[in-house]
Amino acid sequence: DTADPDKLVQCPYDKNHWIRACRVPYHFNKCRKNHPELASKLKTCPFNAQHLLLPNELAHHIANCTDGRTVNLDDHHTEVPSKLKVPVSSWQPPESEENWEEELDEQQETFIWGASASGSKEVKSDSSTCIPPGLRAPRTLPWRK
Ligand SMILES: [Zn+2]
Ligand SMILES: [Zn+2]
Repeated sequence: DTADPDKLVQCPYDKNHWIRACRVPYHFNKCRKNHPELASKLKTCPFNAQHLLLPNELAHHIANCTDGRTVNLDDHHTEVPSKLKVPVSSWQPPESEENWEEELDEQQETFIWGASASGSKEVKSDSSTCIPPGLRAPRTLPWRK
């Protein structure tokens, strides 16, 4: 249990030193000054700054560090490169150009047919000028005076 302040921790600077956990920060500062060459080589555990280890011991410690069990290392591998995703909606089929020409031909045929039929145009003008009896009736009602 790392929370136990009376737990003995081996000093990374001198293997003969066993320090209580509550005194580790003070002892490390003291021994670091006595072993400056060794202090420059020691690496800090990524899970606990109080864990100082030699480079050849660091990998083994990280794999067995009790403070590292709660850290999920798989989070760094969940990202997927966005370059692999290809948008399908942006691609347009070449057949759309042929469809446009077909629609234009149909519109031209309809226009020629409507212009040649002059009789239908006169019928429309007559119907527009003729006012339906239903609209005129309210204005000429004699009993509205
Ligand atoms: Zn020491
Ligand atoms: Zn550690």
